[in-house]
Amino acid sequence: MPESSDDLMKKIVSLCKRLGFVYQSGEIYGGLQSAWDYGPLGVELKRNLKNSWWEEMVSHRPDVVGMDSAIITHPEVWVGSGHVEHFHDPMVDCLECKARFRADGLESEVCPNCGGRLTDPRDFGLMLKTHFGAVEDDSAVVYVRPETCQSIFVNFRNVANATRQTLPFGIAQIGKAFRNEITARNFVFRSREFEQMEMEFFCLPEETDRWMEYWAEQRIAWYVSLGMDPDHLRLRAHASDELAHYAVQAVDIEYTFPFAPGGWGEMEGIHNRTDYDLKAQMELSGKDLRYDDKLSNRKILPHVVETSGGVDRTVLALLLDAYHEDEIEGRTRVVLKLSRELAPIKVAVLPLSRKLQDRAREVEKLLRPHWPVFFDVTGSIGKRYRRMDEVGTPFCVTYDFDSIDDGCVTIRERDSLEQIRVPIDDLIEEIDRLMTTGWGRS
Ligand code: ATP
Repeated sequence: MPESSDDLMKKIVSLCKRLGFVYQSGEIYGGLQSAWDYGPLGVELKRNLKNSWWEEMVSHRPDVVGMDSAIITHPEVWVGSGHVEHFHDPMVDCLECKARFRADGLESEVCPNCGGRLTDPRDFGLMLKTHFGAVEDDSAVVYVRPETCQSIFVNFRNVANATRQTLPFGIAQIGKAFRNEITARNFVFRSREFEQMEMEFFCLPEETDRWMEYWAEQRIAWYVSLGMDPDHLRLRAHASDELAHYAVQAVDIEYTFPFAPGGWGEMEGIHNRTDYDLKAQMELSGKDLRYDDKLSNRKILPHVVETSGGVDRTVLALLLDAYHEDEIEGRTRVVLKLSRELAPIKVAVLPLSRKLQDRAREVEKLLRPHWPVFFDVTGSIGKRYRRMDEVGTPFCVTYDFDSIDDGCVTIRERDSLEQIRVPIDDLIEEIDRLMTTGWGRS
């Protein structure tokens, strides 16, 4: 592993740019601070991650349904939710170097940049605004959502009626959220536009402790199932003075982000939001959002346990966790040990020589309907293997001169570097088996 955490982040950021995972947005104009564009490999990784979350949280569960709401939300939603009143961070400025910081993230009262004197903390609104329609006056102000979950609360009755789900049940959503962060930094960890994966679980008030425990266990197990090292993950309960305005209890799933103070940073929050949101939206709108409990013939305002994760922070944690440097025959090899499920490219097809490329293209054609395949003919075979290791491709298929006569190709596995020879006729079946059960040879 690289020597220092700073060093590791530099390597990840440079790998992301060089190989097409993440670019700084608007880079040719000097870059828009804390806005990021995902390249060809980044978008595949992100899609695989979101698909895995959706399957785990929605498709494979009878008690959770999904939705996809508008990013620009009715402005009253953010009055009802309490964001207009409460969604601020305390901010300080340095009187000497003019740098700006979040007051709650500072360890001392002098500027961490230059040691200068800081102003008293002031509130800084975190919601991003825009205008709806042709006239840009105060009456046209709307907010782009700072969290995806409020649309779930305001649609609660619609979804409950349409799906006839009975309590307890959840509503899930993946989508963009926006926060005008005071100090957006640390690559995709804290940006002003990011993506959330949220699930609101509606239950009876007396059941919230049990569901908090249940969801904390489920969620951390999911990160482990993605291949993350369990020693790099922990649950941390919030102290009462840390709680957001809507929560009475919160547990974070934290990862060992190298830049995080104390070595741990939040990747997902699990919150007991009580009936705070439904009640507040019901009061402001005057619309009944209660759930019709057919069993008890009562109208109930359910309580909510929320799981709120960040796509971008998880992508970063996955890359940090997967990054390895091996020593192979006296040379350093960079390898991303991403799980087969998440790897952006699943199989590379590599003809040993340019003379074999037409035949190897036939192999590529065979595999392409089944998996994302990459075809590479440039450079020595060793270089091509290393390129695939660096982007986390689990299997390379090499077509060599013997393949012409014996109709076989070699499959090389990324982590063990072991190889097997397989008839092209059996290739789909063999790769399918390897994708499902793994290499399992060493
Ligand atoms: P933090 O304390 O780090 O600001 P938060 O407690 O405000 O985070 P939540 O409101 O609980 O975060 O949001 C849920 C999840 O959304 C976070 O765990 C994180 O993964 C993601 N998230 C929140 N803010 C950002 C951001 N500015 N950039 C990237 N991801 C974010």
